Amino acid sequence: MIHLTETVARTHTAAVLTAPGTFAFVQRELAAPAPGEVTVRIWAVGVCGSDIHMYQDGRIGTTEILSPLVLGHEFMGEIVTAPEGCTDGEGRPVHPGMRVAVEPHVACGHCRSCLEGHPNLCPNHTFMGVFPRDGALQTLLNVPAHNTFALPDQITDVGGAMLEPLGVALHALRLGHVRVGDRAAVVGAGPIGLLLVALLRLNGVTALHVTEPLAWRRELAAQMGATSTDAGFSAPHDSLYDVVFEAAWADASVQDAALLARPGARVVLVGIPGDDRMTVQHSLARRKGLSLIFARRMAHTYPAAIALVAGGLLDVDQLVSDVYPLAEVERAFQRHAQYEPGVIKVMVTV
Ligand SMILES: [Zn+2]
Ligand SMILES: [Zn+2]
Repeated sequence: MIHLTETVARTHTAAVLTAPGTFAFVQRELAAPAPGEVTVRIWAVGVCGSDIHMYQDGRIGTTEILSPLVLGHEFMGEIVTAPEGCTDGEGRPVHPGMRVAVEPHVACGHCRSCLEGHPNLCPNHTFMGVFPRDGALQTLLNVPAHNTFALPDQITDVGGAMLEPLGVALHALRLGHVRVGDRAAVVGAGPIGLLLVALLRLNGVTALHVTEPLAWRRELAAQMGATSTDAGFSAPHDSLYDVVFEAAWADASVQDAALLARPGARVVLVGIPGDDRMTVQHSLARRKGLSLIFARRMAHTYPAAIALVAGGLLDVDQLVSDVYPLAEVERAFQRHAQYEPGVIKVMVTV
């Protein structure tokens, strides 16, 4: 095995979440890559709603951050060291200098879920940027070579970091079994909701309703193809949508999704609630005979996501509203957490 490590400075800078709401910049020595791993110099990292949960509360769901952690799971960069014979997620040889997006989910590969083609449901998995595995808000990171996906030139750096949320949206879309001619609704026009809007348009839905409290996000949803929008919760509901996606914070938005759904509809739940509880009126869901489907991350989405963006079918860059350097990571997180006007997707460049 040839490790080209001598060309790479192994000391690097990490933005470490040391306590809720607090980042510290730490100089670290990069560990030697494990067998099958490449070292990636990180270029762009997206800030996600789940990062905001961990930043504000020090936990997400039942996963608590028990020691300082590097966040960041939506990212791309450049491979700087690659052992001979390693291949990327599509079986192509990896080499230093390759621009790659990195799938953050690391499944065990041999449990029943993995063997049945559902690595996103692997109970033995780790996830970059979720405790205890460090993520990408640092200058260098070792990742399994098969988690990397070569980026064609048509995809920008921030566009490469958008492939992770696009994968989440694509996975949710697949769970919804959307058919041409369906009427669809999306509750929540954050990045995932907006990407769902774009994907649903590509799928030939005939009505596409978006519920979103923030005006600038409703406007972008309409630009991207929503046929109707409302601010939610107090608005009258039509109960006519064949498939509804909840892509907000899984609070009142779940009830909103159930109200929008027609009898027999599928309701795909993508959002994660801050209090780890979900409330929906039982009689409403029961009388409509709704199928409530929980989306868990994504599986096998990077090749399709890359083809969609590189082929010009989907513009992910239009969702990037803010770009901050790593030194201003705290500002970047605050801008997202406070939903300052105009915020869609906040990016950090490393
Ligand atoms: Zn995310
Ligand atoms: Zn597994």
